[in-house]
Amino acid sequence: MSSLLEVRGLGKTFSAHRALADVTFDVARGEAVALVGESGSGKSTTARVIARLTPPTEGSVQFGGARLSNRAFRARVQMIFQDPFASLDPIHTIGYHLARPLVIHKRVTNKSELGARVRALLEQVGLSAELVRKHPHQLSGGQRQRVAIARALAVDPELILADEPTSMLDASIRIGILNLLRDLKEQRGIALVFITHDLASARYLADRTLVMYAGHIVESGPSAEVMDAPKHPYTKLLLASLPDPLRPFTSAPISSPSKSGCPFASRCPEVHERCTSLPALHSITTTRSVRCHAVSASS
Ligand code: ADP
Ligand code: MG
Repeated sequence: MSSLLEVRGLGKTFSAHRALADVTFDVARGEAVALVGESGSGKSTTARVIARLTPPTEGSVQFGGARLSNRAFRARVQMIFQDPFASLDPIHTIGYHLARPLVIHKRVTNKSELGARVRALLEQVGLSAELVRKHPHQLSGGQRQRVAIARALAVDPELILADEPTSMLDASIRIGILNLLRDLKEQRGIALVFITHDLASARYLADRTLVMYAGHIVESGPSAEVMDAPKHPYTKLLLASLPDPLRPFTSAPISSPSKSGCPFASRCPEVHERCTSLPALHSITTTRSVRCHAVSASS
């Protein structure tokens, strides 16, 4: 599989605070990769750097093996956010929101083609074409997120970065959005970077899962393998505390990525003297990697 996205050694520092360190991974064409981890672990910053919304302090992001202008990049990589209401303009109709990218990126040549494309986009995300004249506040949260997805689809992207796209939606609505994203991947071959703190959603949607802690990737591998047989002590704790994986940790402050030691050492039940040095994210099988001194290929 050739890589669509190559993220290499990404680091990001805000004032004196290191939000990301040594983030390296690939996304293949048509692949869905989940980024999981508790709040503050660096998931959104990773997505924002990939989407060129903020520059990295260190490292690089290559898309499609080429250097792309921002304009070309925007037509190939789209981002969906947690709050669909915030990403839609209340004064404009749904039709306007979908027509705009089609016009800006010159995907249509005349007005009737524009109308047809807008209606087709609504249908592709399971919405009625009658919504074109409505405004965002007249839609439900789930419908608004579908509009945000339709807008992303307008430019035929190769990659969609979805940052907690279902976390503000009712559980009953969530599965519909997950299924929609899965259809985009399976039927249209769109690659996904899917950010979630919900491990069940990650397993449902993503081929591979990357577990983040304090700005580092601490474990990566096929989603089912990572969740059935976690190797990193942090992943084990996350899974042991399902169905509410984040609750046990809310009182403990998340540490900042350290230049020296393992970021998880202060909370690790298996901590050891060697953990004062930062472990590398190393391969333990052809598809799995773990950032822990205690885990080796044979363990
Ligand atoms: P997540 O999405 O996993 O919750 P974020 O990527 O939002 O994590 O944040 C990672 C760290 O970076 C956090 O400590 C957060 O406070 C910090 N951070 C994120 N964005 C900014 C910013 N614009 N300015 C300063 N600090 C930030
Ligand atoms: Mg976030």
